Amino acid sequence: MENKNLWSIRRKELHDVDKFAEEFKMFISRCKTERECVADFTELAKAKGFKDLKDVIADGTQLVPGSKVYASHMGKTIIFFVVGSEDIEHGMNITGAHIDSPRLDLKPNPLYEEDGLALLETHYYGGIKKYQWVALPLALHGVVCKRNGEKIAVTIGENPKDPVLGVSDLLIHLAQKQMEKKGSVVVEGEDLNAMVGSIPLDGEEKEAVKKHILSILSEKYDFNEKDFLSAELTLVPAGPARDYGIDRSMVMAYGQDDKVCAYPAVRAIVDVQNPRHTCCCILTDKEEIGSVGATGAESRFFENSVAELMNAMGQYSELKLRRVLTNSQMISADVTAAFDPNYPDVEDKKNCAYAGQGMGFNKYTGARGKAGSSDANAEFVAKIRRIMDDANVNYSISELGKVDAGGGGTIAYLMANYGMDVIDCGVPVFNMHAPWEISSKIDIYETWKGYEAFYQY
Ligand code: MN
Ligand code: MN
Repeated sequence: MENKNLWSIRRKELHDVDKFAEEFKMFISRCKTERECVADFTELAKAKGFKDLKDVIADGTQLVPGSKVYASHMGKTIIFFVVGSEDIEHGMNITGAHIDSPRLDLKPNPLYEEDGLALLETHYYGGIKKYQWVALPLALHGVVCKRNGEKIAVTIGENPKDPVLGVSDLLIHLAQKQMEKKGSVVVEGEDLNAMVGSIPLDGEEKEAVKKHILSILSEKYDFNEKDFLSAELTLVPAGPARDYGIDRSMVMAYGQDDKVCAYPAVRAIVDVQNPRHTCCCILTDKEEIGSVGATGAESRFFENSVAELMNAMGQYSELKLRRVLTNSQMISADVTAAFDPNYPDVEDKKNCAYAGQGMGFNKYTGARGKAGSSDANAEFVAKIRRIMDDANVNYSISELGKVDAGGGGTIAYLMANYGMDVIDCGVPVFNMHAPWEISSKIDIYETWKGYEAFYQY
């Protein structure tokens, strides 16, 4: 098995690699939440001629080969379809990524004052090393929904002129006891409170600093303290994606798990022209907390959307829907771990993904004795090899970490429940789930090419 460095192989395409990386950096800098991703991707798809499936249904337009539609739900999950020339019963070519990422959500009653400071209570979302989320600039993103139905979008901390927020850390001088603690409790969940102000409101005695913050929120954003109850506000690392490395070969950005796969998947499907198989790209929410709920991969939204699509094609029947789902094949587009020379002990060097070598396939994920893994069928893996080799796409097939080192999962097993072929594949990243994750530009590019090849197959 030969490991090739893609930078040498793609030497003539470096302009395209850089161009795609720049576009990705712009996307991931403006889209840090699932809502922002859905809104952004909807705009892109519309510009590429996609129609809202709801409008298609309302108009009674019949979908034909080449038709492009999207379906979104609650503004947090979206599915794109391009109708193929072959009978849809032969199955769809699906890529599926998630657009939620670990972060600090605000609690329903977040704002309080203590000792002359105003703070926000948070509840972390997804698997994080809590100690990584202190002493760094955070931005507030999200929506506030008022009783009258009005929805207010909030972003504080992204414009260079904006203030940033943050969670304080204990000074090293007084951290003797803290430094002896286990990593999981060095910083505890209940202590992830963000500092947001210190100036008292003029003429107020009780909770004057908190009242001052509320007056700013009321003036600038037109919402009051009770409106926090019906809000989804979240703290994410502030600031744009950056080139990483003296040679600028990598990208450092928040939320690359899994937007570094979502973005190439969407870019691939919006440019698909007259495919043989019907193509589908699913972007789900809530993967980081188990794919649960109405907008997670566990919901019926995907299945319902396929039923609606088939109905708009004049081809719906319950049995045919079952056949479409079973006969489909899917790339579960999610990041994998890049081999990190600082932590060689957690990887089997013969069976891990390396940055700079292209797409990272995981035949199975899971933990310990493959518990919880969705294991791609060998026959399907052979087909994937053929597709990628024919399209001259570079990839590795590996595992996430050493046996007994830990493990992970994706949305693969949920889609596999329909009986379809599913394999995990995505961009290898460093620092997964840390505030700033790192990936190789050449791998992002190669993953885009790989998803394109899969759609065109
Ligand atoms: Mn992921
Ligand atoms: Mn993750």
